[in-house]
Amino acid sequence: MPVVLLFQSWPALCALVILISLFTSTTLANTSSTSQEPISVGVVADNEPYSNFSANGTEGFSIDVLNEVSRISGLKFEYRVGSWSDIFAAFQRGEIDVVDEASWREDRAQNMLFTRPYHIRQTVVMHDKRRPLPPIRSLDDLKPYRVGSLKDIYYASVLRDAGLNTAEYSLQSEMVQALSFGWIDAIIGPEITLNYFARQKGFASLEVASSAPLNGQDEEDFRLAVAPDRPDLQAKLDQALAQIKPEWLEKLRIRWQEFGGRPLVSKQFELSPSDKATIRQQEPLRVGLMRDYAPLSFDNEGKVQGLTVDVLSRVADLTGVRVVPVVDQWHNLIELFQRGEIDVMANISDLPARRSFAHFTTPYHHVSVVGFSRSPDIRLESAADLEGLKVGYGGGIFYEKALQQTIGTNAVAFSDQASMFIALQNGQVDLVLTALDNGNHWVREMGLYNLHIAGELMLNGETVREDLRFAFRPALEPMVPVFNKALNAIAPAEMRVIENRWLGAAMNNPASNSPLTFTKTEQAYLESRNYRLTFCAHTDWMPLQGISEDGKHQGMAAGLLGHLAKRLSVQFEHHPTESWPEALQALAGGRCDLLPAVPASNTLESNPNITLTEAYYTLPTVVLGRIETPFFNSITELHGKRIGVSNHTAWANDLSLSHPGLNLQAHRNEKVAIQKVQAGELYGYIGTLASTNFLLQELEINDIRVVGRIPMDTSLAIAIHEKNTVLVSILEKTLATLSAAERNDMERRWRSISLEEKVDYALLWKLLVGAFIVFALLIYWNRKLRRLNRELARANHKLAEISTTDQLTGVGNRTYFEQMFEARFDACRNANSPYLVAMIDADHFKRVNDQWGHEAGDACLMQLANILKSHFSDFDSEIVRFGGEEFVIFATITHSEQVEGRLENLRDRVEKTAISFEANPIELTISIGYCCATPQAADLPQQWFRAADRALYDAKDAGRNCVIKRQP
Ligand code: GH3
Ligand code: MG
Ligand code: MG
Repeated sequence: MPVVLLFQSWPALCALVILISLFTSTTLANTSSTSQEPISVGVVADNEPYSNFSANGTEGFSIDVLNEVSRISGLKFEYRVGSWSDIFAAFQRGEIDVVDEASWREDRAQNMLFTRPYHIRQTVVMHDKRRPLPPIRSLDDLKPYRVGSLKDIYYASVLRDAGLNTAEYSLQSEMVQALSFGWIDAIIGPEITLNYFARQKGFASLEVASSAPLNGQDEEDFRLAVAPDRPDLQAKLDQALAQIKPEWLEKLRIRWQEFGGRPLVSKQFELSPSDKATIRQQEPLRVGLMRDYAPLSFDNEGKVQGLTVDVLSRVADLTGVRVVPVVDQWHNLIELFQRGEIDVMANISDLPARRSFAHFTTPYHHVSVVGFSRSPDIRLESAADLEGLKVGYGGGIFYEKALQQTIGTNAVAFSDQASMFIALQNGQVDLVLTALDNGNHWVREMGLYNLHIAGELMLNGETVREDLRFAFRPALEPMVPVFNKALNAIAPAEMRVIENRWLGAAMNNPASNSPLTFTKTEQAYLESRNYRLTFCAHTDWMPLQGISEDGKHQGMAAGLLGHLAKRLSVQFEHHPTESWPEALQALAGGRCDLLPAVPASNTLESNPNITLTEAYYTLPTVVLGRIETPFFNSITELHGKRIGVSNHTAWANDLSLSHPGLNLQAHRNEKVAIQKVQAGELYGYIGTLASTNFLLQELEINDIRVVGRIPMDTSLAIAIHEKNTVLVSILEKTLATLSAAERNDMERRWRSISLEEKVDYALLWKLLVGAFIVFALLIYWNRKLRRLNRELARANHKLAEISTTDQLTGVGNRTYFEQMFEARFDACRNANSPYLVAMIDADHFKRVNDQWGHEAGDACLMQLANILKSHFSDFDSEIVRFGGEEFVIFATITHSEQVEGRLENLRDRVEKTAISFEANPIELTISIGYCCATPQAADLPQQWFRAADRALYDAKDAGRNCVIKRQP
């Protein structure tokens, strides 16, 4: 379902469950339990992510710890959920054996036996990176701000006594939301819980600013406690806790804080033979990506980028499926998708109304839908708050109907996000509704810092959330489980990296550009160098680094130097070298100042007089294999197989030392190695995700995919001569000030999928219907697909053998069209005469069939073909039945001014000719779209065809039975 329904009554439901569970505990529990009987453990409800009663039962960090204690000790636990005071009271009455999450306190120590702590909970100050707080050293520093805290929390009085302006909340999740919406400036609360809710809600800009200045009250110890007369039980519990490793606890903590308890490593991913067959049949997939849905998908100087694009790339990595991005606005894409002209829609929510034409994958992202307003007084807490407001929204969005039902004509649809925000800014609307991430993007992009988030959209008593998925057109339904499998295999940790890249660090954070101050020596050094530094580079290590044919420095390293140049006000000059070893020698010999992108570690061993800065970037290392190669989980699965490695990567040595079973083959050239994998001479190739990705795209290789990742990532650093200590410190300082946005910018340089050349996919798809045309057009359209040449030759050979006449009407068929269309065009171009392409389609022909029967329809088509033939008998023309009730006429024209009249006469003649079938006069009309112009040297015949096709659409739109012209 598109909308995740958040039950507003959930807390009430929980309370009910708690009451019931406490009630049953009073009636059923006896005062002491024997060893066979389960031990009752009181856990705190509504205490995510520690313990919580949800649809999945009792779960959380503490519950996982308790389950582990149970496993180790052999004790059986039965959980009783309730508020802390309820549990504590039940414990004192002897109704509960163990209390969870108990902190040691002197006054409690007489009535309780405590185990060792299994967790220390930190209380912290959380802020929003977009509105960062200054360093907080005491509560006084928080005085100018509005601070959220939990009602009745143990330090509430401390905050009040300090005179803070506090806002008290009863739910942590509400508090986190209030911070993200700017209603409060800071939160004091438990670190893990706050992070957990910030992650759950997708508020990536919230972060912990510091520990809470509570004078030693900022830590709480979590222990298990039992009654004083149960030392045996206390000992058993304590022993079990002693056996739990700190690392295990730490992992568990992160798992709950960051990922709501989901396992961190991705599930084993393997494609079944039938999955592979499905992929091979269906690819390449044309995927519709919105050009203005930042940061989920957007067009940035011809590259499509965003969270969705990264998820899609991951799916492509895993499955080996090839993807052709089609980038446009939503309403165009959805139309193309409905017509079957693109295969997959991205960023789409599952709606019942869409199920007739779309098959949905599981969601890969959820977004809150929020309202942005100019006035801080506008608050969205229920649907009633929308009343009387003019509300802008994206036309066609999934909640459009519900919104219109709620506020009627006050709902104003916009076709793009930018104009919607401009309307808000100009006062034409009071509120605009959009996905939180999306809105934040526009606020930054357009500098609309006066806007406020009024709250989440509520309609019909439910919070509206949008689930983003991929959808396939019906014929591609078999691809859905393949995509689901791959989506499911993206580990939460990896997903978090992707989310942070687009949702988190994209936040423009002025504070991260910390001021850069240099010592006198450092300044003197830069001056002495006249603010010029020289560097050497890899010539061919794209997209990380390369030198273009005209000698320009390219790739991610060039991006890095760009940022450094700005910071330092220096100019970097390239010192050309032939090879990488030569570059290293140039640095060692003092002929250049630095190498901007050097893989850390063993570079140093072989080059003793070179120093490296701190690594500024880490690249994942992956193994590529042929498409049929199974995904591996452990590197030992590669033992004994021939694996290529690049011989200038840092980890190749380490890898052969740590895995002597590997049969590593050093290669100087990645391209050659990958080709060997293709040819089956190598089982796999190990390289960085960046450079291999780039090569696969560059070489148009589609039978190679990522089959696994090895835990030896490549860290990049800047190399400097060891004697040049001043420059080392200058660069280290500067690197430390790179903002997250700048780092992301470097990364994006190699992550984006390049857009294909502009292609009219609507037309393409039409043409694709005939398999032969696929080959011819693809060649035409995309020279890069040379590989298909051989198949084309074979196909052409077959073509020649097939009849070129349409059986029913006797005019040319598609094969004939294929043979003649281009040849005619070339002839016109050579003769410098106009080329006419007219598309003719019978109007409402379905009705003719429905009313008179198929045979009558056939008779009409025959007659129509006859009229066409006779009408153009004096023209040097070709007539082709393109398909169904659609004909194409193409001709060399000597007097182009006669064309229009001739076509108009044709239309008139068809209208006036009653077609007789079994004595029934059948009325038929036709619509004509045409294009007539003299081809120039660079023109393509497809342009004529496309223009005529579009003109035909125009004619249909204009009410049919008419003739319309378009220019190529
Ligand atoms: P429009 O004016 O928009 O073109 O309406 P239409 O009904 O002509 O368009 P549509 O493309 O939806 O339907 C074309 C119909 O032509 C569908 C099919 O029944 C009919 N048709 C296609 N090929 C043949 C054929 O060989 N013989 C007969 N009898 N009918 C055909
Ligand atoms: Mg028709
Ligand atoms: Mg038609």
